Amino acid sequence: CGIVGYVGINPKSNQVLLDGLKSLEYRGYDSAGMASIVNGEVRVIKTRGKVANLEKKIQDLQVPSSVLGIAHTRWATHGIPNQSNAHPHHHGKVTLVHNGIIENYGELKEVLLKQGYVFESETDTEIAAAYIDYVYAKGLDKLATLQEANRAFRGSFAFGIIFSDEQDTLYAMRRNSPLIVAVGENENYIASDVPAILKYTKQYILLDQDEIAVLRKDEIQVYTLDLDAVDYEVKTATMDASAIA
Ligand code: GLU
Repeated sequence: CGIVGYVGINPKSNQVLLDGLKSLEYRGYDSAGMASIVNGEVRVIKTRGKVANLEKKIQDLQVPSSVLGIAHTRWATHGIPNQSNAHPHHHGKVTLVHNGIIENYGELKEVLLKQGYVFESETDTEIAAAYIDYVYAKGLDKLATLQEANRAFRGSFAFGIIFSDEQDTLYAMRRNSPLIVAVGENENYIASDVPAILKYTKQYILLDQDEIAVLRKDEIQVYTLDLDAVDYEVKTATMDASAIA
């Protein structure tokens, strides 16, 4: 299971995300999916099975490459491997991919059902997407929204998140599941693991427990859960992409 995300000045999302997912295939997965901005809307494409199936679907549907996107390979923990349980999951203004397990998703689902949310999948992840949307809809800004959602979630997560009202920004947050932020030239990335982006850059930032990252094409901000800005260290990978591919 793995996550890749891209934000940049050039519309490279299809290439970067598919390359990244392929390099994360070794981690094992049962389905794959992608969300990107198409004609000002967040478009979600997902399939059971191989990343090659996702790639074919993207080609068949002629999904244009974009300046912002997130992608995922799923290792099912809650809900069988099928297309509706595959990520990304979407509710309201929030679309996200997730690795990990939201242990208290049952309790959160009760809250959301009372608010009128209707669910399409059996996943804990769809509850997380709806919960973030629910908090955001209360009128908080995005950092405060992610802080509140983080504090409500028990378990493990690495999230890549797109808000449909901010189409040049990629959000990420993690606890107990791996996620790195990678630094390019006029483009930035998130990934479960450094090899996923080595074709594009060697510069990366390790996200700490419960940190929140905000990525735009030309800037990266990292915050603690108390929303203090982190003076992060940019590391240089010593691995060579060709040695891994
Ligand atoms: N718990 C989530 C699911 O079953 C995420 C699984 C994963 O880490 O890929 O969909």
